[in-house]
Amino acid sequence: MIIVETEPKAQAEGQNAPDAAFIARALDQANLNALRLALYQSTGDPELADVNVGSVPWWGGVFQVATLSLEDGDKVKQKARAFLSGGAQASSDALPSGDQLRALIEAFAGEPVSDFMVEMGREELSFDPYPRGVEWTREPSEETKRSYHVTVIGAGIGGIAAGIQLKRLGIPFVIIDENDGIGGTWWKNDYPDARVDIASHHFQYSFMRNYPWKHNFAPAREVQKYIEQAARDHDLIPHIRLNTKLAAAEWDEGRAKWRLTLEGENAKELRTSAIISAAGLFNRPNKPDIAGLETFEGPWFHSTEWDHGVEYQGKRVGIVGVGSTGAQIMPRVAQDAAHVSVFQRSPQWVATVDGYKSEVTPETQWLFDTVPYYWNWYCFALFHAMFGDVEGLQNADPEWQAKGGIISERNDNLRNYLAENIRTKLADRPDLIAKLIPDFPPFTKRTVIDNGWFDALRRDNVDLVTDGIDRITPGGVMTKDGKEHPLDLLVLSAGFKTEDYLWPVQYAGVNGVTLEQAWAKDGARSYLGMSMPQFPNLFIVYGPNGQARAGGLFPWIEIWVRYAVHSVVDMIEAGAHVMECRQSVFDDYNAKMDTAMEHCIWDVPGQQSYYLNKFGRMSANMPWKPDQYYHWIKKPNLTDFDLR
Ligand SMILES: Cc1cc2nc3c(=O)[nH]c(=O)nc-3n(C[C@H](O)[C@H](O)[C@H](O)COP(=O)(O)OP(=O)(O)OC[C@H]3O[C@@H](n4cnc5c(N)ncnc54)[C@H](O)[C@@H]3O)c2cc1C
Repeated sequence: MIIVETEPKAQAEGQNAPDAAFIARALDQANLNALRLALYQSTGDPELADVNVGSVPWWGGVFQVATLSLEDGDKVKQKARAFLSGGAQASSDALPSGDQLRALIEAFAGEPVSDFMVEMGREELSFDPYPRGVEWTREPSEETKRSYHVTVIGAGIGGIAAGIQLKRLGIPFVIIDENDGIGGTWWKNDYPDARVDIASHHFQYSFMRNYPWKHNFAPAREVQKYIEQAARDHDLIPHIRLNTKLAAAEWDEGRAKWRLTLEGENAKELRTSAIISAAGLFNRPNKPDIAGLETFEGPWFHSTEWDHGVEYQGKRVGIVGVGSTGAQIMPRVAQDAAHVSVFQRSPQWVATVDGYKSEVTPETQWLFDTVPYYWNWYCFALFHAMFGDVEGLQNADPEWQAKGGIISERNDNLRNYLAENIRTKLADRPDLIAKLIPDFPPFTKRTVIDNGWFDALRRDNVDLVTDGIDRITPGGVMTKDGKEHPLDLLVLSAGFKTEDYLWPVQYAGVNGVTLEQAWAKDGARSYLGMSMPQFPNLFIVYGPNGQARAGGLFPWIEIWVRYAVHSVVDMIEAGAHVMECRQSVFDDYNAKMDTAMEHCIWDVPGQQSYYLNKFGRMSANMPWKPDQYYHWIKKPNLTDFDLR
């Protein structure tokens, strides 16, 4: 069991016994609904269950957070003070049983909750040391285990999670990564102000308890350090081969193994029983094909390949793209650049999140360290908000539309909320407002977080250019209106080749079938986002149409990894060496998926986003509700597979 020991910040600052003012600040900063549940779990005090739970908008109005009235909040604070002065001891260490847990979660939500909320809630509460751990049903001999070998592609969040599971089970494995460090996305992307847009306490592994996050939304380097810490804590370093790229993988049916061609530091051929590809979705930069790029005389690079040897301070900088990354970079660069030209093809919906750049205060960390279960319920609160109702946001409502609505009541409300935020932030700049309100509904593309975006756009040294790029010239960018924007440095923030799943690895499955052949009709497809016929013993983390409709990525990555590792365990326990998704299961699933997709709003005509592939088909997201998907993917159904 891994528990990250944290030195309470209050103690670190010589506040071993915090004074009343410190405690008052801690309680003022607390999530009082989470604190209420922590106290209720510790004391069983029925008065703590007897409150009304309301909700307030959060994360730019996209999510709702369960909250208490001022009066009830004060009651919780009073009880917390008494609990703290009495020594802050829980009356029992016993973990809540099924019914008790449901009662606690319903007390948190203030309403009945689904089985999904209870089951997944248990995992997110992290009472168990390893909430999503795969266990053997009939543990095989060491010799049998040694006859299998798993290769994990990628040392990012997914690859490290897979390695930890395999290590616990004693299955031989190696993790390879072409980068020269651990962390995947968070190793590679170190552009100015790279930062996660999900709260740190929801952007974490369920088995790493009370990690001392410095920031409420961690910068990239902090996330990278966290992932590396997970690898070190679980002794994964000897299993990781960095600077090593998987170039090709060929299925050898006779041996029931994949033959891998590795390039780089560990260049060789390797035979492996199974592949868990955690190669990531946002790995291959999309370099737009803009005429004249090769003639530009200054330095230029993709945001993901930021060249820190090139100074932007005092320079005229062009940033192409206003998606999550471009909008994140611009405010930081604008502080020190002589001038920034932001080239916007179409505006994005941008949500302002309170406290986006804030640090976790010593008072909050002290509460995590001191009040039993507070950290658990604090993390649960984030999960509960982020896994809330998505249908109303992402499905069109025909009745609402018949009454003149655009998408659905919730989507239209969110649209008004976000548009009003733009009007308020830029009240004195009607020229910018006109350029910044999108003409498509929120959630047809990924919502961007306001990293100081609106404030930076008002700066004298920033221009928002919307006339469309005609070509790059030796000295800058020529827009379609014939104006040249002189530049010293050009940053392309044009996203990633997300539709090219598993690319550029040359996979050759049963009878040599390639991915291009298997996906020729309308792009990448899979069963449950994880496997495909003709590509046995290959499990994909974050695979085609695997992106769930709600929730943070860490829980889903753990769930995908659990399914992949469970598949390997099931295969070993069945004495089989090949596990191949049945064609009929795959076809049936995909037909149902296409039908279910018709109700979703992602493929608005005329919109380009990473969600849609070149066939115009949504190949990233799934149409199923999170609870449905969660239950399908909890563990593999062996009748879906041909085991041999
Ligand atoms: C700039 C940026 C910002 C993001 N911000 C957020 C955010 O705020 N919130 C959020 O939820 N998500 C965000 N994402 C999505 C992000 O990718 C995930 O958060 C997460 O890091 C995915 O983890 P992963 O393990 O699946 O993949 P990755 O982190 O992409 O790791 C995959 C690894 O596989 C390696 N690899 C790939 N192919 C090969 C090969 N053939 N051979 C060897 N190694 C290979 C890569 O080098 C990489 O290290 C962001 C992505 C980017 C690019």
